[in-house]
Amino acid sequence: QAKRAGTHAWTLHDPSMTDRRAEDAALSDDLALALDRGELHVLFQPMVDLTSGRPIGAEALVRWQHPTRGIVSPVRFIPIAERSGIITEIGLFVLEQALLQLKAWRQPLYISVNLSPRQLSEPTIVHDILAVLGRTGVPPQSLVLEVTESAIVDEKTGIAALRALREHGIRVAIDDFGTGYSSLQYLTRLPVDILKIDRSFVGELNGTPAGSAITEAVIRLSQVLNLTTVAEGIETAEQAAELLTLGCDTGQGYLYARPLPGPDLDQLMTTTRQGV
Ligand code: C2E
Ligand code: MG
Ligand code: MG
Ligand code: MG
Repeated sequence: QAKRAGTHAWTLHDPSMTDRRAEDAALSDDLALALDRGELHVLFQPMVDLTSGRPIGAEALVRWQHPTRGIVSPVRFIPIAERSGIITEIGLFVLEQALLQLKAWRQPLYISVNLSPRQLSEPTIVHDILAVLGRTGVPPQSLVLEVTESAIVDEKTGIAALRALREHGIRVAIDDFGTGYSSLQYLTRLPVDILKIDRSFVGELNGTPAGSAITEAVIRLSQVLNLTTVAEGIETAEQAAELLTLGCDTGQGYLYARPLPGPDLDQLMTTTRQGV
């Protein structure tokens, strides 16, 4: 009885919970207007060849410049967009911005775009993505779609969509790999090309076997399955060196560059190449 009363009190009177709900609702309303008001923009973080340090691709990362709150992190607003469904529109906006930017860069790169679970379950997703590729004139081979393990595991229809996209030449990456719950057996049957090692594991690299255990296991698994491994969140030269030793040759992180406006990345690539 006491326990029940306690639970009751918690749900009704916890102010932080109430505040959070109210703020979520306010953000959700604002987000519905954000696209039309031009408050969303896309930044790009280079993905580099760890041996040469040269950019070979870039990940598109959305930003929301809210009129009164300043920059709202995607960690905060993507789940809200996912619940309201506006993620479908935002996702296609990010894709189009990313492909237009890709065409403007003077260097040949690929572009990696995050795809949310809700987008993946949309019946028109394959058609929509191919339409944006067609409209912008970008070859499907230049596009990588990043999905999380849970997005695939939860969405049976999502797997069919990923298969179809891959048949068109688009590559699929599993984002934040190692943080989800898909079984290894399941992984061998998934339509994927790339495993992205979550930055929490990269952050543990410290030259000891314990620190590299998970990263090394993911790299080996990736090699056995003939997939490409990409490390995220590389912040130190030591981490980059250890990743190379372990057999991972692509990565991204603050060591190379933070997410940047598209034209700045072009600038960075030009100077990197001249330096070599
Ligand atoms: P993610 O896809 O795993 O993206 C990598 C995140 O790690 C980015 O955060 C990036 O800025 C950050 N990062 C990169 N290098 C480092 C590093 O060296 N150290 C640290 N501490 N962080 C680093 P960001 O831009 O805040 O995005 C967070 C998440 O929001 C993304 O994680 C992704 O799940 C989601 N997201 C961002 N843009 C989109 C989008 O257009 N669509 C969807 N569906 N989700 C998005
Ligand atoms: Mg990602
Ligand atoms: Mg990631
Ligand atoms: Mg991540």
